[in-house]
Amino acid sequence: MRVLVIGSGAREHALLLAASHDPAVTALACAPGNAGTAALAEQLGVDVADPAAVAELAKRWQADLVVIGPEVPLVAGAADAVRKAGIPVFGPSAAAARIEGSKAFAKDVMATAKVPTARSEIVDNPAKLDEALSRFGPTWVVKDDGLAAGKGVVVTPDRDAARAHAMKLLDGGHPVLLESFLDGPEVSLFCLVDGRTVVPLLPAQDFKRVGDGDTGPNTGGMGAYAPLPWAPAGLVDDIVRDIVQPVVDEMAARGAEFSGLLYAGLAITSDGPQVIEFNCRFGDPETQVVLALLATPLAGLLHATATGTLAEHPPLEWHPGSAVTVVIAADGYPGVPRAGDVITGAESEGVLHAGTRRRDDGAVVSHGGRVLSVVGVGEDLDAARAQAYERVAKVHLSGSHHRTDIGLKAARGEITVPGASANS
Ligand code: AMP
Repeated sequence: MRVLVIGSGAREHALLLAASHDPAVTALACAPGNAGTAALAEQLGVDVADPAAVAELAKRWQADLVVIGPEVPLVAGAADAVRKAGIPVFGPSAAAARIEGSKAFAKDVMATAKVPTARSEIVDNPAKLDEALSRFGPTWVVKDDGLAAGKGVVVTPDRDAARAHAMKLLDGGHPVLLESFLDGPEVSLFCLVDGRTVVPLLPAQDFKRVGDGDTGPNTGGMGAYAPLPWAPAGLVDDIVRDIVQPVVDEMAARGAEFSGLLYAGLAITSDGPQVIEFNCRFGDPETQVVLALLATPLAGLLHATATGTLAEHPPLEWHPGSAVTVVIAADGYPGVPRAGDVITGAESEGVLHAGTRRRDDGAVVSHGGRVLSVVGVGEDLDAARAQAYERVAKVHLSGSHHRTDIGLKAARGEITVPGASANS
C-alpha cells in the first residue's frame, strides 16, 4: 500500500512512524512535511489549502491511501477532491468537517442528537455583548466561531478580560461564542468513524496552556499523556454510546456522513462527560501518545476507515503501559515564534518534528511555534514521564520552552472525578 500523508506537524510525523511499522505499507510520502518526516517518507510539495492540488498529487504519486492530517485542507474540501479522484482517503468531507469548522454547526448537531454540552450563545453585535456576558460567568468562556488553531479561546474569571477578548474578535469581524464553564478534568477521545461504525482509541489528556500549572495563554497543545489512570470505569463506552454514536448518526441523517477521525474534547463533570468541542482530525499532541501505544498496524486500520469496512476490522490491540509527549516550543510561542535557530539532538529516538526544516548546509532549524514533540513510553506514567524528559534534556534549541509537568498530576493520583470510583 502506497500511503500519502498530508501535513507537516508532529502529528503527521507520528502517523508516518506508525505507518512505517505496518508490513502492508510499500511506500510512504509526506506533503509538505518537515525535517523529521523526510527521514521516513518521500517529501512532496503541495499547497495543502488547495483541494485540487492535493488530489492531483495523490493521482500523480499513485497513492492507495491518502491521510489528511490538519483541519484546514479538510474544511477546504481536500478529502472530497481525493475521493472524487477515486482514491481512498482518511478524512471527512468539507460538509462533515464543519463539526470542527463551525462551532455553531457543532452545537446544532449536538442539540438535535441530545448530546450534553455547554450552554452557549452567539454574539455578533457589540451592543449585545454586555447583556450576554451577564448571562454567563464567572468563569467566562469566550470563543471565536471558526478555526483558530486552539488559540481563539479565552477562559477567565475576569469579566473585563472576557469582554476585551470578545471585543477583539468582534472588531475583527468574527462572531463570538459565549459558553458556560464546564468544570472537571478534560479528556480527548479519538474515534475512527467510517460513516456509521465507531471505533474508539485510547483516551488521552492534553495540556493547552503554555505554562506549568496550567498558566498563561492557550496554545495548540504543549503535551499529552495516555491512557488516563484516573478514568472512571466504563468511561470510553459511555462516551461512545451517549455522545459519539448519536453525533455520527445525526450527521449521517443530515447527509453529512462523517468518515475519518472524530475527536471528542470533553470535560468529565459531576453530571458526567460533556462536550467541549469536536475536531474532525487527529489531535496534536495526543496523536503522538495514542499511536505510540497502538499495536494494530495503522495503515490497514485507516484504510478500513476510508473504505467503510471498520465493522469487519479485528479489534484493536494496544501495547501495555503509558506514553507521554512534551512539546518543545520556539521562543515567542504562542505569540510570534522566532525561526531559524539551529536544533541539536533532533534526530534522537522519540523526537517527532513539527516546525523544523533542513537548511542547505544540512542543519535542522526551527521553523514554527511548536518545534518538536518528544515522546517517552514506560510501564506506567512515571516511567513514561521519566523517559520523555530524559529525551527532552538531550535536545537543544536556543530560547525554547516546554512544560515540566505533563502528566504529573495524574501520575501523583491528584486528578479525581467527583462521584466516580477510579479505575486503571
Ligand atoms: P477549544 O478550542 O474549544 O478546544 O477550547 C480550548 C480549551 O479551552 C479547551 O481545551 C478547554 O481547556 C478550554 N475550554 C473551552 N471551552 C470550555 C468550557 N465550556 N468550559 C471549560 N473550559 C473550556
